[in-house]
Amino acid sequence: MESTERAVVRLTEAHTEHEGGKAVERGPLLVELAESATSQGARGSGGGGAGIPINLGVIALQDHIAGKLKQMQLALFMRQIKDPIEATIAVWAHAVTERHRGRIDDASWGWFVREFPDWVHRITEEVSPPSSIEMIAPCPSCGETRAVVRGDSVTAVVVKWYPEELSRAPIGKCRFCGAKWVGWGAMHYTLDVVDRGALAKLGIDVSVFIPKTLL
Ligand SMILES: [Zn+2]
Repeated sequence: MESTERAVVRLTEAHTEHEGGKAVERGPLLVELAESATSQGARGSGGGGAGIPINLGVIALQDHIAGKLKQMQLALFMRQIKDPIEATIAVWAHAVTERHRGRIDDASWGWFVREFPDWVHRITEEVSPPSSIEMIAPCPSCGETRAVVRGDSVTAVVVKWYPEELSRAPIGKCRFCGAKWVGWGAMHYTLDVVDRGALAKLGIDVSVFIPKTLL
């Protein structure tokens, strides 16, 4: 896992990342996240079957981060800062100071140390992949069907796939229990988010995945 220091920089400052051997200039990841929540066209629009174009994953992630920031500020007896960038910088600086003073035990410190890299990981998953399409479905694993995020209904499982890369298996993941599914067969047979006809038009024959692997 990357250092927490570096994670805080990536979240809050413009910085350089190295992707596939190239140096890439990136904005603060928290800004990129906020921008992708409002730019409907930037990511998947369309999608088959039950799919609708959503940025609800981004909104759910923003809510997740806002909730964690609130908890951390409470834990550190700080005044609540709303702006996520300001809050992230302040929380980490404050946590480091308190740790030096011996006022944060190992368990709590571990929480602060792990939390920011976790956001980097989640934002990178949510924001970076080029032109992915998302589809949503109820979760066959935990049975969760719906939750409400800021008035919008969100279904449990989010499936991502990349129309430019049909050979790349789609991945479905439940927001609630964390169960994962991989591959077109699982999307069709287990999650029922794509119909066989739509896949056939894309040149994907789900019969090759037939139930032996799924039952
Ligand atoms: Zn689930």
